Amino acid sequence: MNAVLMALLLVVTLTAFALSARKRWKLLTIGSTQTPIDRIPERLRLTLRQAIGQQRLTRYPLAGLAHKAIFFGFLVLAIRSLILFARGFTNDPAFGFWLLDAGTPLGNLYSLVKDIYIVLVLAGVLVFAYIRLIRKPARMTLSTEGLLVLGIIFVMMLADILYDAGAAVLHARTAATATGNIPFDIWSPLGSLFAQPLASLPDGAIRTLWHAGFWVHVVLVLVFLNLLPYSKHFHVITAIPNVFLQPLDPPGRLLPIEDLEGKVEREETLGIRRIDQLGWKGILDLYTCTECGRCTDHCPAARTGKELSPKAITISLRDFLYQHADALTGAGTASGNAATDSDETAPALHRADLVPAVVSEEALWACTTCGACEQECPVGISYVDKIVDMRRYLVQEKGECPAPLQEMFQSVEMAGNPYSAPEEERMKWAEGLDVPICAQAGEIDVLFWVGCSPAIDQRARSIARAMATLLNTAGVRWACLGPEERCTGDAARRAGNEYLFQAMAQANIETLDRYSTKTIVTVCPHCYNTLKNEYPDLGGHYEVIHHADYLAMLIAEGKLAPRQPVKAKVVYHDSCYLGRYNDIYDSPREVLRAIPGVELVEAEASRDRGMCCGAGGVQAFKEEEPGTDRINTVRLKQLQDTCAATICTACPFCLSMLSSAQETDDSSSPEGLDIAEVLLQSIGALHPDSN
Ligand code: SF4
Ligand code: SF4
Repeated sequence: MNAVLMALLLVVTLTAFALSARKRWKLLTIGSTQTPIDRIPERLRLTLRQAIGQQRLTRYPLAGLAHKAIFFGFLVLAIRSLILFARGFTNDPAFGFWLLDAGTPLGNLYSLVKDIYIVLVLAGVLVFAYIRLIRKPARMTLSTEGLLVLGIIFVMMLADILYDAGAAVLHARTAATATGNIPFDIWSPLGSLFAQPLASLPDGAIRTLWHAGFWVHVVLVLVFLNLLPYSKHFHVITAIPNVFLQPLDPPGRLLPIEDLEGKVEREETLGIRRIDQLGWKGILDLYTCTECGRCTDHCPAARTGKELSPKAITISLRDFLYQHADALTGAGTASGNAATDSDETAPALHRADLVPAVVSEEALWACTTCGACEQECPVGISYVDKIVDMRRYLVQEKGECPAPLQEMFQSVEMAGNPYSAPEEERMKWAEGLDVPICAQAGEIDVLFWVGCSPAIDQRARSIARAMATLLNTAGVRWACLGPEERCTGDAARRAGNEYLFQAMAQANIETLDRYSTKTIVTVCPHCYNTLKNEYPDLGGHYEVIHHADYLAMLIAEGKLAPRQPVKAKVVYHDSCYLGRYNDIYDSPREVLRAIPGVELVEAEASRDRGMCCGAGGVQAFKEEEPGTDRINTVRLKQLQDTCAATICTACPFCLSMLSSAQETDDSSSPEGLDIAEVLLQSIGALHPDSN
């Protein structure tokens, strides 16, 4: 084509891109914490599945298919762009990097695949335009940038067709066997088809169109490349690394603040106060957000009109980061060094407290830590860790949190439970039952971790009693800690009081280790998650089993035989801490299916799309933030829509939230029961509360 022009174009645009990329890289490295890059094969598999296979995108079928078409088209057409860049330096219009030269078998095959993807990409662009301009889902924000990029892709595809069409006409006119006709070429269907209307144009016009197709394609590729670092389309570059680098821990595990005492002594920040404390992975998250809004679409707080929107949090943090990029990287300082906490001379704005400067307290406290946002995000962005870390700073450094949480902290600290119940209350649930206590029991196989709610809450006690009766019926050698059991610290931790959590965890681990505990069974998903996924960080290593899994196992082994029919249409509500966080979806349903007479139905939103009941993330211990609805009311309605007579849960907090929604709703149906309570009805053992 024109080697000088091509060289000039590449030097200018690639230099501009390198400078922008350098800026972004520098900004990324202000992140203070290190994310370990371990378990490479697992990460590669995850990347293949989630980033290359686009697994999560198809949770929204139409947008997912359109994105797949554009993504794979992008990969296929990237080779085409390289070929065109090379053709800029040669006079050989067939050049295609040896095997891909036009006319070679592989070159022909590539040309055909490329044309197929051009059609798919054009269709994908039209679908996105339809979604943005006509359907206008609430989760998305109509932006000029989004439309501009769709336009660039669309024109790039048309330019490619024009280039091939021009080439086809010129080739037909110069070929030795030229007849004036342009034959349909199966290996270049688009070019040969679109060549037909050009056939009557003079050579000069064809050459101009051919050149135009070429230069428009290459210029748009380079313009697009330079737009990336300044737009949400930066995810084109960062999504694959972000997915590869996402935490591989169980999603319910919060990382502890290491060396808490030392940090206090050294006066280091506890939690996240400033933007640079997000760490480089946190900053990469911000670079990667595509603004698709899937997170907010499934956030129970956002869906009920609260101020919280995970997408808005990311965008606000990213805007703040970019706005203060120079100050953060030291680009504006004489020394060129980034300003630090101790750098009192540096401008202070970029060191502002993120809460409330960027994220409001109301939004922060509205999060139920349900994990739905992370489950939906196609590019591996995490939220719960950031939200809890910001709460950690507020609670531990500023002593700020909703008033009921201060009371809850005091109760946990003084009474060992969030309800201020005195120690003697802790075993009231077991009155009249044969309940062995570890301190007196001999050798046991299972330690039943009762949990504060089932031990103290009037309604939830029935779950503990049902479970104890089932354990006795199955002949399990078990015992519980009795008055020695303390709150796991889950609620304190989600509220940001890491100090209290670690104190509770250490005390519990000491007690559990004193009894050489190996296997723990619990009826509470929050206790389950904390004991299983978080206590190991503090030295507590146990086999922890949720009662849904344990009861399913006892039934499978024939130790529990549900015989008596329980004639009821039952809908099971998935607890976030059991399902989304620990992938336990099947066993509670297996327990229910094993009961004769039970007709199990599913709510429209169930399993990993199940909506939170509104209790998690310490919401059960405070008032809900203002919104258009209460979360538990919305969830109850979804379950009522199934016309089930019974709502079954495997979490005392879910049961309590749904029951209180019923009270507000003034509806007595459906009845709310734990799976252990329904199973007990069928086992034939007398429910301890039946007389
Ligand atoms: S964890 Fe749940 S409540 Fe919190 S931001 Fe994500 S979706 Fe919303
Ligand atoms: S965080 Fe993820 S799900 Fe939410 S808008 Fe960004 S890319 Fe989409």
